Amino acid sequence: MVRGVHRPTVATIDLGAIKSNIKTIRTHIKADKKLLAVVKADGYGHGAIPIANAAKEAGVDGFCVAILDEALELRDSGFTEDFLLVMGITELRDAALMADQNISATVSSTEWLEQALPLLKLRKTDNPLRIHLAVDTGMGRIGLRTKQDILAFEAFCNDHDELLLEGIFTHFATADGEDDSQVATQYETFKEQVAALEKRPEIVHLANSAMTLWHEDFETDAVRIGIAMYGYNPSDKTISLPYPLKPAFKLETELSYVKQMHEGDTISYGARYRAYEGEWLATLPIGYADGWRRDLGGQTLLVEGHPCPVRGVICMDQCMISLPKEFPIGTKVTLLGENHGQVNSPSDMAVDIGTIGYEILCGISHRVPRHYIDSE
Ligand SMILES: *Cc1c(COP(=O)(O)O)cnc(C)c1O
Repeated sequence: MVRGVHRPTVATIDLGAIKSNIKTIRTHIKADKKLLAVVKADGYGHGAIPIANAAKEAGVDGFCVAILDEALELRDSGFTEDFLLVMGITELRDAALMADQNISATVSSTEWLEQALPLLKLRKTDNPLRIHLAVDTGMGRIGLRTKQDILAFEAFCNDHDELLLEGIFTHFATADGEDDSQVATQYETFKEQVAALEKRPEIVHLANSAMTLWHEDFETDAVRIGIAMYGYNPSDKTISLPYPLKPAFKLETELSYVKQMHEGDTISYGARYRAYEGEWLATLPIGYADGWRRDLGGQTLLVEGHPCPVRGVICMDQCMISLPKEFPIGTKVTLLGENHGQVNSPSDMAVDIGTIGYEILCGISHRVPRHYIDSE
């Protein structure tokens, strides 16, 4: 994997913003509630390990990731004791590894437990496998749905010392929307499912960022905070944030080539853009292979506070913008973040191209080096 360290295209991540967001969120949740930092997908493109270190400094109670490899990366990077939950389904063959590493597994079928049991006998430690039962209350992704299945699952865990039912959780489908009706029904379903258990597990949890920001949480023990920790609005522009958060991600490059065009000169593949007489055009060393997707071609990029439109289609490694006047090679260009008082927000761009801010952030590819600063 090559990182472009000899190129001025860089993502700058403010760990101070991450810490500040965690502290802000902490003041808005109940004092005894665990705050779990979601660092899946390489910390939403910000870099899982630096983010996890900052989050730990700010006092989070543990981490959530999507896949086992992400959990192992944390364990291998010094997070040896921290609470660590894999929120997706893990392969049976890794059950013993998870137990040995004290990684909590999301499980949503008793069959999985039955099949994991003989494999767990091969584990090297006496650790039980810590299990979080996923229940489906309307997301339709993973999870048991009937009380009967949930009770059978609990009973199976209780019958085997290799298994510890540590948690139960669900995930909401519409917490970032304006209509609260499905949130209410998912909520009620989850309450009933938890109440059906013979014994309440240690960690009952339901809230992602959107639930934490906009909805009352009932008697749960933890929240799973992803996008809000990075400083972004989970709904993009649908609902405004109840309190300010600080965006942590800045994406910048520099003008690498500047020229003045004649009327009708064509720009980029397909020759679809034709310049006007005297138009100043600049080339930037960033393209869709860096995650600056072709459908961002309608966005403006910031040069000394001027919004500069992209001209022609975005290429794999470069793209062209129109300048209001001549600027020297090496002038800074901001694709995401603040530049001379102007801000390019992933949420605004996402809405324009029919996606969500999350996808823009975690889409910035590993060819773009991440630099870290701490504004705190
Ligand atoms: C990704 C994820 C989260 C975090 O979501 P945000 O909207 O980023 O806060 C929480 N819970 C589950 C199950 C997830 O998959």
